Amino acid sequence: MTLSEAYQQHVLPTYGRFPLVAVRGEGCRLWDEAGRCYLDFCTGIAVCSLGHCHPRLVEAIREQAGTLIHVSNLYQIPQQAALAREINEHHVQLPGKVFFSNSGAEANDGLIKAARRFGHRHPQADGTARYEVITFRQSFHGRTLGAMAATGQAKIQEGFDPLLPGFRYLPFNDVSALAAAVRPETAAVLLEPIQGEGGVNVATPEFLHAIAALCQAHDLLLFFDEVQTGFGRCGETMAWRSIAPAIEPDGISWAKGMGGGVPIGAFWLSDRAIDGTGCPLSSLLGAGSHGSTYGGNPLVCAASLAVLHEIRSHDLAANARHQEARIRDIISSWQLPVITEVRGRGLLLGVALDPARIAAPEGKTPALVIVTRLMEAGLLVPPAGPDTLRLLPPLNVTDREVDEALALLHGVLATY
Ligand SMILES: *Cc1c(COP(=O)(O)O)cnc(C)c1O
Repeated sequence: MTLSEAYQQHVLPTYGRFPLVAVRGEGCRLWDEAGRCYLDFCTGIAVCSLGHCHPRLVEAIREQAGTLIHVSNLYQIPQQAALAREINEHHVQLPGKVFFSNSGAEANDGLIKAARRFGHRHPQADGTARYEVITFRQSFHGRTLGAMAATGQAKIQEGFDPLLPGFRYLPFNDVSALAAAVRPETAAVLLEPIQGEGGVNVATPEFLHAIAALCQAHDLLLFFDEVQTGFGRCGETMAWRSIAPAIEPDGISWAKGMGGGVPIGAFWLSDRAIDGTGCPLSSLLGAGSHGSTYGGNPLVCAASLAVLHEIRSHDLAANARHQEARIRDIISSWQLPVITEVRGRGLLLGVALDPARIAAPEGKTPALVIVTRLMEAGLLVPPAGPDTLRLLPPLNVTDREVDEALALLHGVLATY
């Protein structure tokens, strides 16, 4: 049985997969079964932040796997406490507390649960709980029932209704739509500071400040989904700091790049007082209120700790800014008519394409046409929406690797 036959017979067909079979990775490169080498600017969709098989990460996983892989959250886990401390002190840099999940969607579900607890504690005027979370069009928050309902894209929700109630989607970057949006039942606002899957759309500083002011005025929680953008990816510790650094969110969710490839997610709640008695927001999820069997086990926490140490000690956020500037300079020097815009921050960059110049067969977007041609040329990138390419190299990518990838990109795009 061939691999694609095994897929057809045994794996649910939820993904349209490319025929590529990667068998080995090192740094920025992947090799397929035939020994062909690819430059990987997809990195498992912003997951392998140190590239493939970084020696520090491999060693941390090896050592922990040989010592203790898993114990229950019924017991204390030193690697989990150390990781939470690393996150609080060096990455969030605001007083708060962390819960470890296994994915980004689960992390967002945790934030949604926190919003509901908050809405019980701070109810509407008539005493009924608040529960609604405002999110935005073109957002992506994940595939669980909660995160899918939070996601402002009909194609993600198609055929899965009735959805979890309590979400309303506003236009992204539209300050004027915010003012009238709050209802008595509204409890929180959740957004990606830079929408990743939705096309690499950067929130404006005015928009983030307007949301923060709205939350303040109406006693709403402000949550950032930093699942794709956090931990150096966008050139700062967190993406919101690359846009509006003075804002202090109430909650943050993460996954993807924090584990460098091991499945780990997390959410954070602020220690700020939510009433006159000094009760901190982070106390609303007390013992028995939330849990995860695997969440924050010794293996994934040791791995994530190695990743976050490496990002911090080598200031990989600074490399993300450095490479962003180079990529923008080089691409704009090409003056190619097919490229309409470069959006994003750091090493989450969207190269917007002019769809009118790209003939796409039925059922294939212009971005997918280009992604396929780039793969044939030896460069892996994912799309973001129908006509944007996403560049997501590892945070430690070198000048030479960027130059090589851009030469491949130019080779393909210059023909349109
Ligand atoms: C990928 C992503 C998610 C979902 O993460 P999973 O680990 O796939 O559940 C949520 N939010 C954003 C912004 C993402 O990019």
